Amino acid sequence: MHLRRRVLVTGGAGFLGSHLCDCLLSKGCDVLCVDNFYTGSKRNIAHLIGNPYFEMCRHDITFPLYVEVDEIYNLACPASPIHYQNDPVQTTKVNVHGSINMLGLAKRIKAKILQASTSEVYGDPSVHPQPETYHGNVNCIGPRSCYDEGKRCAETLFFDYFRQHKLKIKVARIFNTYGPRMHLNDGRVVSNFIVQALRGKPVTIFGDGTQTRAFCYVDDLIEGLMRLMDSIDDVTGPLNLGKPGEFTILELAKKVIELSNSRSEVIFEPLPADDPRQRRPDITLAREVLGWEPKVELEEGLKKTIAYFNELLSSTI
Ligand code: NAD
Ligand code: UDP
Ligand code: UDP
Repeated sequence: MHLRRRVLVTGGAGFLGSHLCDCLLSKGCDVLCVDNFYTGSKRNIAHLIGNPYFEMCRHDITFPLYVEVDEIYNLACPASPIHYQNDPVQTTKVNVHGSINMLGLAKRIKAKILQASTSEVYGDPSVHPQPETYHGNVNCIGPRSCYDEGKRCAETLFFDYFRQHKLKIKVARIFNTYGPRMHLNDGRVVSNFIVQALRGKPVTIFGDGTQTRAFCYVDDLIEGLMRLMDSIDDVTGPLNLGKPGEFTILELAKKVIELSNSRSEVIFEPLPADDPRQRRPDITLAREVLGWEPKVELEEGLKKTIAYFNELLSSTI
């Protein structure tokens, strides 16, 4: 009998995973963090080393893993387009082989398992905002496909293990999330703009900047993930988690420049292939079944993230 809930977090040294490890430990869980440091970093979890209820294991989840835990959060997968397109075959492998391994593990040890899926399963959506019932508009042969189709196949595997092997599954479709501990060279828009603005470099807008995204602060997202894991077994998802406010990329650039007290100019660069035009979550379901509502407004979250990068940049010069 284990007094503390034993929780495995794959991708635990990444941006979201490291915040999740923090929250689980603060709630009294015994945390096993598994990561191969593909995009994650020891810096993100350095403050946890020495905590007797935290354990770090360097491992690639495309290979089998034999451990004993009560719950699994499956977050291992590069999330930024630059990183997931760097080795697209590995991106599909981590989503397909990695998910099969984690589902096989969950089946053997009868653990509850949560998948970090993504709004990318909706592709370049023709329905706006996106409810969970929308099946998406995804290109299966483009440069984003390794991630989009990989995550879609992972959802298929989760639901087949649920139907075929009666696993307890939870699938979260995460929309754009930002905050401290994003990688300095992450490549996603919020960290790119902040780092450019703080360095006084031009802020790079891809396309004309009229495309939209909705941005959720990391603390809100982690709260949503943990509520989903703790929900009753009937709640499998897929469940959208994100913050509904929608901003154009040009609006975001201006806000970041202003809040960083920067003199950076904005410059326009070509729009990458298959870049979604607009995206905003419909979180009606998450509100109903989890009683969850993101609280941190964009400006407040940006200020915290700017402060983080400011400190990081001054310590790495
Ligand atoms: P991240 O790149 O910071 O974290 C991913 C982590 O997974 C890294 O620590 C990386 O080293 C690790 N990893 C990659 N391949 C692995 C492998 N084969 N074995 C073990 N570890 C491996 O990204 P993030 O933003 O923290 O995203 C975490 C999860 O959430 C991902 O699955 C991502 O697809 C999903 N997600 C994130 C967002 C977002 O906006 N942050 C949005 C949608 C979905
Ligand atoms: N697996 C794992 N850890 C476990 C149990 C299984 O990594 O504790 C992997 C194993 O490599 C297997 C995969 O999960 O290939 C799928 O397991 P499952 O039992 O569903 O299928 P099978 O073993 O029949 O292929
Ligand atoms: N983007 C941008 N400049 C950058 C990085 C991204 O204009 O330096 C744009 C990108 O083309 C997309 C949006 O910002 O339209 C969000 O990009 P991100 O990579 O953060 O996430 P995703 O496209 O996966 O939502």
